[in-house]
Amino acid sequence: MFWRLIGTYGVLTVAAITLLGFVLERRVERHEQQLIEKTLQTRLVRVDIDLRGIRDPAQLQKRIDEMIEVEPGLRITLLREDGEVLADTAEEADRLVNHATRQEIVQARTQAFGSHIRRSSSIDKEMIYVAKHRENPEGPVAFVRVALALDQVAEPLADLRRLVTTSAALAAGLTLILTAWFSRRIARPIQEVAQAAERIAAGDYGQKVYASGQSEVVRLARSFNNMSERLEEQITKLEDDQEQLRAILSGMVEGVVALDAEQRILFVNERARQLLEFATPSPVGRKLWDVVRQRSLLDVVQRALTEREPQRVELNWHGLTQRSLTVHAARLPGEIPRGAVLVIHDTTDLRRLERLRSEFVANVSHELKTPLTVIKTCMETLLEGGAAEDPNHRRTFLEQVSDQANRLHYLIVDMLSLARIEAGTEVFDFREVALAEAVELVCDRQRARAESRNQTLAIEGSDDVVVWADEEAVFQILDNLIDNALKYTPVQGRIQVRWWAEGQHGCVEVRDTGIGIPAQDLPRIFERFYRVDKARSREMGGTGLGLSIVKHLVQAMHGSISAVSQVNEGTTFTVRLPQPVETPTPSV
Ligand code: ADP
Repeated sequence: MFWRLIGTYGVLTVAAITLLGFVLERRVERHEQQLIEKTLQTRLVRVDIDLRGIRDPAQLQKRIDEMIEVEPGLRITLLREDGEVLADTAEEADRLVNHATRQEIVQARTQAFGSHIRRSSSIDKEMIYVAKHRENPEGPVAFVRVALALDQVAEPLADLRRLVTTSAALAAGLTLILTAWFSRRIARPIQEVAQAAERIAAGDYGQKVYASGQSEVVRLARSFNNMSERLEEQITKLEDDQEQLRAILSGMVEGVVALDAEQRILFVNERARQLLEFATPSPVGRKLWDVVRQRSLLDVVQRALTEREPQRVELNWHGLTQRSLTVHAARLPGEIPRGAVLVIHDTTDLRRLERLRSEFVANVSHELKTPLTVIKTCMETLLEGGAAEDPNHRRTFLEQVSDQANRLHYLIVDMLSLARIEAGTEVFDFREVALAEAVELVCDRQRARAESRNQTLAIEGSDDVVVWADEEAVFQILDNLIDNALKYTPVQGRIQVRWWAEGQHGCVEVRDTGIGIPAQDLPRIFERFYRVDKARSREMGGTGLGLSIVKHLVQAMHGSISAVSQVNEGTTFTVRLPQPVETPTPSV
């Protein structure tokens, strides 16, 4: 802008000054010539007077030669009426051609004087000619002509030209400097505004420009600063809002995906990435069908884009992990479809719980039904079949009824116990429990059973391992694990109970050389009613709730349990319970 201003105004000014100088010079030159003409006319008059009475051409020649002696540079020519040269101070008269057609002579014939400027062919110089027609010639001379070489007057003219040129150059220079100064004054704030605007466009908000005074440019700078400040505030607010929104969306347990009308992904939160397992790490900007292959999801998006009502679909997601997903798809508001938002809930746990609940109801019904059916059948046989009268049969039936009633009793006791632990209503009496004492006590209770089956029940561990737990619960845990080890280990097998301290925990391990648990069943053995071999477990009097109770008890006491097993080689259960936290003894 600065250079454009300088260019425009500078060129205009220089052109104006040059034109002015040129016109001025021409006018002055013309004026000078007129002055010379006037002087020459006066000279002519004097020459005319001087020549009066002289008729002889030689005399005339002599006279004019004398005249130019005092005025070198001047040329005098005398002509007859017909234009023939009578005498001349520059050339010999008879060598000169007829001058009748010379412009100054033609002019002098009609007017008093005639003048002309031209290059003289005889002396090869720019000359000014002034001629006079003598009104009453007393001799042969009809025309007197004087001429002066212009270079005689060129010097003052050249001086004048130099003066004009120098003044014009000075004026032009000064004007240029002033133009530059003004241009700079105008262009600088505008340039600053332009640069600041460019920086803002590049994302560097809050730019300011500094300008003082009252001009429009200063007003522009002020408005620009206001705008820049407001823009920075707005952008910061927008960024904060966006950041907040992003944080909220990232922290959501639901997956969120925003799509445009062409199903191009505009936004996707972290959870959605996990749930939908996109085919690319950067799905934003890609079409949904490029990064997600599941047909049912694409269908629901299509429906959401075409229909006004929000769509909901439950999917079984077959990706790297099997999941149950519930997808809500809603169209963005507006007449023409602008896009859709998908909210994806992971309902895997919910579905699993639902399945577990219905399985549990089915299992409980089944567990209750089996002993009840036996009891009912026995009682009917006793009452209606007449078995009550037969003491042998009666005893068998009554024993069966008693067994089944016991089974029902244990089942209900286990279920209630499990329900209490799960509901958190079981009250634990936390205290220091020595693992050695607990293991010994439980093993003493089970030893007779082990011996009856020729099984070895060995224990190993130091006396000083103590855990922070409920004693009854520890007994129940050990009882269940040792009971299972005895149940699922053939006669003459070996059951070993070991305990030790490890880090912050006391550990106890029940290892047997029994039938083992197949790898596919191992992760499920802590589920309620889950049994590897249902018939065998029932036959052994198990309820299928033992390990479930053990796991819940261990967890309620902030511990953990794990199992490793090899089919036909044996199983090892390891329980970890926290050790008591050392409390500093208060100083007396
Ligand atoms: P149950 O009353 O049937 O023993 P549990 O909950 O105690 O129920 O155990 C669940 C299942 O885990 C059992 O049915 C059995 O199949 C398996 N199991 C538990 N302990 C052992 C073990 N020591 N060896 C082999 N299988 C075991």
